[in-house]
Amino acid sequence: MIITAIDTKKIKIKLLGEFKVAFGTVSTVENVLVKISTDEGITGYGEASPFAPVTGETSESVIALIDMLRPGLVGKNPFALDDIHTLMDKAVHGNPAAKCGIDLACYDLIGKSSGKPVYQILGGGSGIVQSDITIGIGEPEQMAQEAAHLVKDLGYHILKIKVGIDPVQDIKALTLIRKAVGEEVRLRVDANQGYTAALAVKMLDKFASLGIEAAEQCLPDWDIDGSALVHSKARGVGIMLDESIHSPHDAARACKLDAVDTINIKLMKCGGLYPGSQISAIANSFGVTCMVGCMIETRLALSAGISLVAARHNVTDADCDSFLFFDEAQAGVSGGFTVEGDTFHLSDSPGFGVEVDF
Ligand SMILES: [Mg+2]
Repeated sequence: MIITAIDTKKIKIKLLGEFKVAFGTVSTVENVLVKISTDEGITGYGEASPFAPVTGETSESVIALIDMLRPGLVGKNPFALDDIHTLMDKAVHGNPAAKCGIDLACYDLIGKSSGKPVYQILGGGSGIVQSDITIGIGEPEQMAQEAAHLVKDLGYHILKIKVGIDPVQDIKALTLIRKAVGEEVRLRVDANQGYTAALAVKMLDKFASLGIEAAEQCLPDWDIDGSALVHSKARGVGIMLDESIHSPHDAARACKLDAVDTINIKLMKCGGLYPGSQISAIANSFGVTCMVGCMIETRLALSAGISLVAARHNVTDADCDSFLFFDEAQAGVSGGFTVEGDTFHLSDSPGFGVEVDF
């Protein structure tokens, strides 16, 4: 099978409300859908969800990059993923969301051509995955109300709470949330780089007393040494890294420095399922687990992320909730999975099983 054309389509997604985290507030995003056509008449779809504060990309830069890569990629076999990633990495540094758009479209083609869902191509047996749901920063009372609603009305068992702007408010919100949802619900926090090492060590003791199981990205993305220090002092709270880990190289360094218990793999940070699988393998060799997180992605990229969770035993957690934050009709993407409470059932259709209005 040979790639004959690569097309891009920008989509604008307006969120149902503002989503506030330690480094900013988001209300709209622009993603890029990628369509790869082949000489066998099979079409594969991918998605790039650039987020400038983390990936340094915009929808315009994604489209420009894919325009630049197109001449090198047309004529290639989409099964040749190592060749394709090597070509893209040699041609351009970084730009992981753009590369992810190409990577996902290739996996969709591989699945469709093989008649198998992507989670099986990646090595998975069952396409059933449990996800957490994220609560953005707001008034503590309001965050606790939302937590109770998510657990009691929607059936979530794991909540990820955004923190990192005001440590006093963080503890107030977490105390109220714990009270509202009871002891059984699993709670994690994500500081999105908002703490210093000294503050993180102090906060971890308070988190432990509230039964918080893990704290994500406490420190600035570049501070792996600081994360190693915090990890050495953490008692009973797992240390997760997100913005610090883009590439397999970042994962190897953080694991070697004993700076992490769980790596948050996002396909948009690492460049897609091929490098995402490499990060999972590196983590596994150090006894480190992984979670798959997401940007504001449609069901297309989310299906890919959930497929990786389904396929790898050390990818133990999913934070793939972004489809709940917007009216999906505006994205023109459907299928991929069904949801019962907090549990995803991946489609068994070939590829990602996603229908795309392109
Ligand atoms: Mg995060």
